[in-house]
Amino acid sequence: YNGSKIPPPAKYGGRHTVTLIPGDGIGPELANHVRELFRFCCVPVDFEEPLSGLVLVWTGGLLQVLCVTCRLSAYSNCLLPSCRTSLDLYANVMHCQSLPGVRTRHRNVDILIVRENTEGEYSSLEHENVPGVVECLKIITRTKSLRIADYAFRTARENGRRRVTAVHKANIMSLGDGLFLQSCQEVASGYPEISFDSMIVDNTTMQLVSRPQQFDVMVLPNLYGNVVSNVCAGLVGGPGLVPGANYGENYAVFETGTRNTGKSIANRNVANPTAMLLASCQLLDHLRLRGFAHMIRRAVLSTVTETRLHTADLGGQGSTLEVLQSIRNAIESTGPRTLNT
Ligand code: ADP
Repeated sequence: YNGSKIPPPAKYGGRHTVTLIPGDGIGPELANHVRELFRFCCVPVDFEEPLSGLVLVWTGGLLQVLCVTCRLSAYSNCLLPSCRTSLDLYANVMHCQSLPGVRTRHRNVDILIVRENTEGEYSSLEHENVPGVVECLKIITRTKSLRIADYAFRTARENGRRRVTAVHKANIMSLGDGLFLQSCQEVASGYPEISFDSMIVDNTTMQLVSRPQQFDVMVLPNLYGNVVSNVCAGLVGGPGLVPGANYGENYAVFETGTRNTGKSIANRNVANPTAMLLASCQLLDHLRLRGFAHMIRRAVLSTVTETRLHTADLGGQGSTLEVLQSIRNAIESTGPRTLNT
């Protein structure tokens, strides 16, 4: 993926087709809210839903996928990691930032996490040699390590970030994590304006819960990326707030950052829609529909600062629908609905 890559072309009078996978739990209701808000804002995006939840439809040109939640069900749970690999969605990006109005233990957290999304421990290579002995293979390749490191540095540069930290366990896994670390070091030399350092993953988690403000951009192999990004989401308010994006050369998937299904709160009008709505803004950014992205993001963020509207996950009593109504009000009072840049 190169940052300046041209987005998939719009068709039929400037409209984009996006595949929507509602998933399980709170997925379908949040998908509907995104759909309705897009319609309310006259966003030129048409959603299509694959017949079976996971048959991805080729839309000609590039396929865009808005994936509401990736832990769809036991079935898709094992399918989706392979979907990430087959679409080669190699970069998982999560921006964990403290939001005004959301009370958390730490303030001023602003961490951009870049996680390798296709190899490492997620290579689906495990077998039982003899009863009671299992081998799980963790694959680290130079090509993919260089690719994710370059993605992290490029993203850092594009976003005016100053430092990239590679997270690893090369003291123990000297060959595998050693290769990842060495690849990051190599790429770092091509970005002299961005400083580079590294940290062992166990220390990283300790540093994160005690002084998270010290981190800027982090680049991690797959499993550490999963764990660390969940810690970071927790630091800024939890699964209802943080969106996540997955990018590859040809495809992009936008979803809630922590990929929770929220089965226990499904269909009760209590889920926090913020993460999903912010994911939809990332989708709009990707399609270069920046005016719409800005309009919706601004309304979503201003609603989060209204503490009386907070949903239960943030300690409030607001319902999902109340939050959405407030977002609509904010859009009506500030943004022209025909904005189309
Ligand atoms: P479950 O499927 O049991 O709800 P998950 O692992 O999907 O659990 O989610 C972990 C926790 O995060 C649950 O307590 C769930 O209710 C909560 N959660 C996930 N997404 C949201 C959301 N959008 N709004 C509020 N709470 C959420």
